[in-house]
Amino acid sequence: MRIDIITIFPKMFEPVLNESIMKRAKEKGKVKIYTHDLRDYTFDKHRKVDDRPYGGGSGMVMSPEPIFKAVEHILHRASCVVRRASKKRNTQYAIRDTKKTKVILLSPQGKKMDQKLAKKLAKNKHLILICGHYEGVDERVRQFLADDEISIGDYVLTGGELPAMVLVDAIVRLIPGVLGDKNSLISESFEGNLLEYPQYTRPAKFRDMQVPKMLLCGDHSKIEVWREEQSIKRTKEKRPDLLKKIA
Ligand code: SAM
Repeated sequence: MRIDIITIFPKMFEPVLNESIMKRAKEKGKVKIYTHDLRDYTFDKHRKVDDRPYGGGSGMVMSPEPIFKAVEHILHRASCVVRRASKKRNTQYAIRDTKKTKVILLSPQGKKMDQKLAKKLAKNKHLILICGHYEGVDERVRQFLADDEISIGDYVLTGGELPAMVLVDAIVRLIPGVLGDKNSLISESFEGNLLEYPQYTRPAKFRDMQVPKMLLCGDHSKIEVWREEQSIKRTKEKRPDLLKKIA
């Protein structure tokens, strides 16, 4: 898988992409992640990526041209077919095989990220993530360039960098071979719309707090049943909305 991130703050990604599982996934060749400084796609001496909103109003809006140019450049480099705009309305500008490459705009107005969406995204060969800033991005980017608009929750952040990192982390850990033990994905929260059962480790007694006796009995089939019950119980308590999806 290849992920390209378009941002005005590429340095923000360095610590996240060069630690822990992200770092190992790159070293193992499971994913290639490139950050692109949007200002490299500007042609004025101030490397300006924004302008005042038409119709007035507060703040600045990110201009379409550098974003379109960045996406087109990435598609060329990734050897995807790119053609210039046709005159037809609603034609995609950077034409590509959308089965292989998806252009995603991070936006608080997009569809909300969840585990199901992470799994869907992890099936793509190539993702291009666009991080907005200021008052957001010129609407033509959403209309004519992005395949998807994704939000990480109903709150507004200053920029799309943290949301892009959230997406990358949630997606990369799902790529086969990235996690040491693939079974850890099977029982984890949101699989089958349930939350994971409670986890304990040594010591069996910490201060006066005891690990449930069932986990010490050594009977794995009984433990399996107990865990399933716990999973349902805590989903009922914490996220009853998930159980409705099962019914
Ligand atoms: N004015 C916009 C609005 O009200 O919808 C918000 C713009 S926000 C301050 C700037 C940028 O941060 C957005 O273009 C987007 O890329 C990113 N962003 C902010 N909150 C986000 C969220 N919850 N999910 C994804 N991206 C977000």
